[in-house]
Amino acid sequence: MSSSLATVAYIAATILFILSLGGLSNPETARRGNLYGIIGMTIAVLATVFGPRVTPAGYGWIIGAMAVGGTVGLIAAKKVQMTQMPELVALMHSLVGLAACLVGFASYVDTSIVLTGAEKSIHELEIYIGILIGAITFSGSIIAFGKLSGRIGGKPMLLPARHWINLTGLLAVIWFGHVFLNADSLQGGMTPLIVMTVIALLFGIHMVMAIGGADMPVVVSMLNSYSGWAAAATGFMLSNDLLIVVGALVGSSGAILSYIMCRAMNRNFISVIAGGFGTGGGTAAVKKDGEPQGEVTPISAAETAELLKDARNVIIVPGYGMAVAQAQHAVYEITQLLRGKGINVRFGIHPVAGRMPGHMNVLLAEAKVPYDIVMEMDEINEDFPDTDVSIVIGANDIVNPAAQEDPASPIAGMPVLEVWKAKTSIMMKRSMASGYAGIDNPLFYKDNNRMLFGDAKKMLDEVLAALK
Ligand code: NDP
Repeated sequence: MSSSLATVAYIAATILFILSLGGLSNPETARRGNLYGIIGMTIAVLATVFGPRVTPAGYGWIIGAMAVGGTVGLIAAKKVQMTQMPELVALMHSLVGLAACLVGFASYVDTSIVLTGAEKSIHELEIYIGILIGAITFSGSIIAFGKLSGRIGGKPMLLPARHWINLTGLLAVIWFGHVFLNADSLQGGMTPLIVMTVIALLFGIHMVMAIGGADMPVVVSMLNSYSGWAAAATGFMLSNDLLIVVGALVGSSGAILSYIMCRAMNRNFISVIAGGFGTGGGTAAVKKDGEPQGEVTPISAAETAELLKDARNVIIVPGYGMAVAQAQHAVYEITQLLRGKGINVRFGIHPVAGRMPGHMNVLLAEAKVPYDIVMEMDEINEDFPDTDVSIVIGANDIVNPAAQEDPASPIAGMPVLEVWKAKTSIMMKRSMASGYAGIDNPLFYKDNNRMLFGDAKKMLDEVLAALK
């Protein structure tokens, strides 16, 4: 393939990726967005493999690598449970970081690249920055994977003088960058490069370890952004324009998402990075480990059905537990049945509900819940006082009134769905356990709250049977 044809293919792929991002911004166009992405990626891969920079001698390697990578990806995608999606995404971000590191080292030792003067310095700077971002993304994403999958506890690890440790690391990275750029031999440059890589790996670990449970959504989207910048840096190292553009698209959309997440949690970006939020300790609403804070009023599935039958306005608030129980289809059936009786049923979606951005929207879309009754938090929060029944399905942190009522709570100031303002709120979960942030929830003990204990799917099936 000639280089001009490859360039045209790259431009077409870029346009498709932009259309893809546009499509993904709305559930109704998300399928089309995905399709654009698939076509764009196919064109990009073909144009690269058959482009002017790959000789036929390399085809064997490329096909072999694609077969291995494709098989692993296919098996992972088929096997992964919906609740493991966030962990899989974190793991994939780590691979982008690892790739950037490997490409960086490979470009540095590649003797076929002969550059001098400013060009050499720019290339080396690209390598240094590429490996830096790649290493932080790699180790940070591995720790995020550990935290999301529960292999590492949600509690932040707060080292004494951690800000000083980070600052020293930053200064060392700048210093070794200076040494690297001024090295006069390959060996001379390798040592500062390796030292910087180790510092960057440690920084990635430290950064994510210091983050408390409640801040994880921001970290997940931040690492998403980093993976984009790592890909863009790889694009610079390989002089691949498409990779630069795509990396920048992912990097900037991830940055926008991080901003949205920060706003959703009423946090500023710097304090998220500084870590320590949602510790589950301190002066939180927890009394003593596991000791109840007051009386809770249980309710049965049949009583829940009665309340729903008599209601005019119902708001359903789904959370992580709905994903665990795979209860979205039962939710849909109940919604249809109630709507058939003329009851106004709507959904309230918190921006950080579940374990990844858009988690609840994906599940509800899968169950074919109409988009026009799925509202964002800001759109529906004022309507709770006019609501007869609010049903919380496997959500906890996102409906925790402590965020408003207890200034000492680790989640104080985080906007939450005000389900307790409905005439009756029903909380569906299996036990009195806390949510991801590890803090007690005073909603359990409110006079107008009822607890429907059990697996969400099982309970909703019972409610459905009673409604019928
Ligand atoms: P939470 O983790 O706060 O609460 C989920 C609740 O679901 C648990 O208390 C659990 O209680 C219940 N549950 C679990 N399994 C079942 C089941 N089978 N049936 C019924 N209930 C079940 O989830 P939320 O969605 O309310 O809040 C999200 C949390 O995750 C926030 O703290 C957010 O910061 C964090 N987070 C969000 C990310 C995102 O991007 N959205 C990313 C990373 C973290 P029980 O065990 O008693 O059943």
